Amino acid sequence: AHEGILRRQSLRESAARTYARSLPIVPVRARGLTIEGADGRRYLDCLSGAGTLALGHNHPVVLDAIRKVLDSGAPLHVLDLATPVKDAFTTELFATLPPRFAENARVQFCGPAGTDAVEAALKLVRTATGRGGLLAFTGAYHGMTAGALAASGGAEDVRVTRLPYPYEYRCPFGIGGERGAELAARWTENLLDDPKGGLAAPAGMILEPVQGEGGVIPAPDSWLRRMREITADRSIPLIADEVQTGVGRTGTFWAVEHSGITPDVMVMSKAIGGSLPLAVIVYHSDLDCWPPGAHAGTFRGNQLAMAAGAATLAYVRENHLADRAAILGARMLGQLQGLAANHPCIGDVRGRGLMIGVELVAPEAGDPAPPDPALATAVQRECLSRGLIVELGGRRAAVVRLLPPLTLTDEQAVAVLDRFADALAAAER
Ligand code: PMP
Repeated sequence: AHEGILRRQSLRESAARTYARSLPIVPVRARGLTIEGADGRRYLDCLSGAGTLALGHNHPVVLDAIRKVLDSGAPLHVLDLATPVKDAFTTELFATLPPRFAENARVQFCGPAGTDAVEAALKLVRTATGRGGLLAFTGAYHGMTAGALAASGGAEDVRVTRLPYPYEYRCPFGIGGERGAELAARWTENLLDDPKGGLAAPAGMILEPVQGEGGVIPAPDSWLRRMREITADRSIPLIADEVQTGVGRTGTFWAVEHSGITPDVMVMSKAIGGSLPLAVIVYHSDLDCWPPGAHAGTFRGNQLAMAAGAATLAYVRENHLADRAAILGARMLGQLQGLAANHPCIGDVRGRGLMIGVELVAPEAGDPAPPDPALATAVQRECLSRGLIVELGGRRAAVVRLLPPLTLTDEQAVAVLDRFADALAAAER
């Protein structure tokens, strides 16, 4: 079955498949951290649906919530009508928000994907400000629809002004640390204030508190506070894309809490749906000036996703899984840094909570050592052959990303790092 399924899919599906190319497995069962393939092999899943599975696969709390809706006879499709399921989800979502943000917050259901919510956020700030341009960052990833793609690093769009994102290891100013981040902030300030710069007042700024697909690059808190200051002083709405960083992943429920900033818009998806598709924007009520019908969509009322999501949000909150992610993540980061001390091909180890990146480099190829995507691919392959699923990211796809479920046990964390260390040693040879 395993080989047949893989062969048929590669023949019938678009060549644009991504994960399926680098991870040739056929999952048939899963629980927590573990996936079982059609070939009977078991894998530790540190991709977690690209950070979606806060509670791992098929958590009983999530399954029960889904079953409850199914058994209740409630309609599964209701467009965006009010339902008890939606009411419970919204109540739970608001309970997770930073209090200062929650005070004046409105939610808009988008969906089903993160990119839809990004699109809604961009449209919202354009409508609210009556302006067109957007400020976005190098290395950003916001999705694959036109607006979100334009905001993502690498894409060219005349409406998007690209700003430097602080990157300690590969500092765009060659300085690193807080000073590099401060220079990035000043660059932004100067650009906005230069009367001859030709930059019309933008509709908004969109940023990830930790760049995920861009290679797990945490922004310093000081820089985030500067971005908040700079945008607030100039009445530019600030959009925090928490699609990947949300729901405890980085060690606080929402990643903006580390810096204490209050954005104008937060974009949420992935884990808020408890493994089913769900995406929302939450924003300051002052921005809620678009007329009825200005942002529609058939699939904004996924009842099963709301039930699974509400159960996930409640479980993460009640069991303090964000704190757990902070502690376990710091420990894993320390152990990976120890590994780096013996492996010059590890250029950098970084992350926040259980969002961890290991940047692989070719030290013999230059100083500073350039990224080594071939080695990263080899490490990923060696991990898979040892039953460990990891994904790559980064501007040159040379960063191994670890996004385990927040329910990861101490023993599982040890197993993950053991397999990773073995895979690295094998790939280096
Ligand atoms: N924003 C961020 C920060 C993301 O990481 C992603 C997905 N990796 C998206 C937006 C897009 O979400 P989706 O793939 O569900 O469209």
